[in-house]
Amino acid sequence: MDESVKSLLGLLERAREDSAILDSPELNEGLDRLRGLGPVRVKCPKCRATVSWWALHPAEPSVVFNSLGPRRRHLRKDQIPPDQLGPQPPKPFDDWSLGPMDGRHSAKNVDPTGGSNRWRFTCRRCGAQSTYTRATMLRMFVQWVATGQHGPIIAQ
Ligand SMILES: [Zn+2]
Repeated sequence: MDESVKSLLGLLERAREDSAILDSPELNEGLDRLRGLGPVRVKCPKCRATVSWWALHPAEPSVVFNSLGPRRRHLRKDQIPPDQLGPQPPKPFDDWSLGPMDGRHSAKNVDPTGGSNRWRFTCRRCGAQSTYTRATMLRMFVQWVATGQHGPIIAQ
């Protein structure tokens, strides 16, 4: 595993105890070279249906997600309605379908503080639910990079 990815995973591991690490410049700069990767498919832990698509935010230390995912044909097989195919820069979002807020998105903000640090994803096929903090999503994304970016992320 690449040293810089290893140190990112170390930082994210420490963020479990010290959430201030999440907003440190060290972490955000470390994520820079992973920006533009993905979006990666996230699959349901029970039935393996696609639950969401994830990538890193272009400037902030967080994962952005969209249940519609990319419109690249080699990544998806179903058709996207043409009205949802607008440009959405910067990378990797320029290749995403528009609109996490279109009512079809699979994540619900369940942060008890009213912030946006806790999201619940619900599988549209089997109803399984997974709830993640921002730190957990970042850790899952960096782990996906660390293991060679093969295949989807399987939700936990
Ligand atoms: Zn499922």
